[in-house]
Amino acid sequence: MDPGIKDTDRLCIHTVTTRPMAFEEACGAYASRGVKGVSIWRDAVDGMDHGAVRKLLRDNGLTPVSYVRGGFFPALEQDRRDAAIQDNLAMLHEATGMEIPMLVLVCGADPGQFLQVSRDQIRQGIEAILPAARELGIKLAVEPLHPMYADTRSAITSLKQANDLAEYFNDKYLGVAVDVYHLWYDESLEAEISRCGKNGNIFAYHISDWKVPTVDMLNDRGLMGEGCIPLKRIRGWMEDAGFEGFHEVEIFSTRYWEEDQARFLDRVVDAYLQHC
Ligand code: ZN
Repeated sequence: MDPGIKDTDRLCIHTVTTRPMAFEEACGAYASRGVKGVSIWRDAVDGMDHGAVRKLLRDNGLTPVSYVRGGFFPALEQDRRDAAIQDNLAMLHEATGMEIPMLVLVCGADPGQFLQVSRDQIRQGIEAILPAARELGIKLAVEPLHPMYADTRSAITSLKQANDLAEYFNDKYLGVAVDVYHLWYDESLEAEISRCGKNGNIFAYHISDWKVPTVDMLNDRGLMGEGCIPLKRIRGWMEDAGFEGFHEVEIFSTRYWEEDQARFLDRVVDAYLQHC
């Protein structure tokens, strides 16, 4: 039997996973369980002083992994597309202030236009912010989403498309976030992970599980081991492709947010050690 992961050295948690916890409390709770990385959602640190965020991370021995989430470039109207670019530039500066080395891009889509038009606007949006990302030293990670979100959240719905995009730019500041929730069923997943690694484009690895049945399209993600995603197998493909970064737990769950968050965190760590 595969024993799973032996320690928490590469365990990172997205703040949204424990959304009811304030950022300060979450940092302490993560650190006390041996978690080493944190991916910070914008709303979790909204209004906080950047120096205070850096100090909290440092005091708890936490490495900032990514800032979540930029993107949302497509829109029917030019002024909304311009506003999206400005917002992404603002996030790059916020990430710089908090010393977070990467911005995750949930690329966006507008249901009023063809997906290909949205994809072109995504490319243009990335083109517009990439010089600033380079200058500030913040990486951009394109996250392909499950096609059920192609209406409003992402016209990038496969790892192949994300690879195409990253290879089009061929820039060390642009890569891909591989999230098992969005990609687990893809028949070409192993090959596309391998391709992503060969081109130096694997920037991030997000984990959770697909519950059977899933009762909410957005907020019913499972704890690792609770659903049908072959987590160990996918981790093996990631390692074969040369990925050595953090394993980022990202669970949106109305059900889990209603539970005691400290106890839920214990379960997250146990599930990670056992099933990932
Ligand atoms: Zn993700």
